[in-house]
Amino acid sequence: MGIEEKLPAGVLLTSVEKLVNWSRKSSVWGATFGLACCAIEMMAAGGPHYDMGRWGMEVFRASPRQADLMIVAGRVSQKMAPVLRQIYDQMAEPRWVISMGVCASSGGMFNNYAIVQGVDHIVPVDMYLPGCPPRPEMLIDAVLKLREKIMYEPLGANGRKMLEARKERGDVP
Ligand code: SF4
Repeated sequence: MGIEEKLPAGVLLTSVEKLVNWSRKSSVWGATFGLACCAIEMMAAGGPHYDMGRWGMEVFRASPRQADLMIVAGRVSQKMAPVLRQIYDQMAEPRWVISMGVCASSGGMFNNYAIVQGVDHIVPVDMYLPGCPPRPEMLIDAVLKLREKIMYEPLGANGRKMLEARKERGDVP
């Protein structure tokens, strides 16, 4: 009997998926991209006091092609929206987005024509972070939750859709 018949279906693929996702979650590199006051807290999170290097995140990349995490730190003006989308499009797949602070997530107190009322109108958001501004510990908590999410993400172009289906079935938290 061949090894393929002895092993349950999908064992090898599942292990590869875990290995790839483990390496992805262990080196999530953020794009250098701050929009407003929330960015000060993001910078603090990247400094030695909070030391995001503990999770392989010590580098913020100036080139979006070398980054896989966009932290939208602050309000998004209508003028900045196309720039933000262009940077997102230049990032390689798989890529993730954290909306940091109430302004990025919903416009916050800037309920006016100049500000995008939620960055999810421009790019898909994986994690929303409340607060004005969120503290560095909150950003770190969001990153840790994102890492959990990455661990369950199926490989391939339809990974995200498959993850949603797994969630609906209750296979992942
Ligand atoms: Fe500034 Fe608060 Fe808006 Fe963040 S949520 S950009 S700290 S006003």
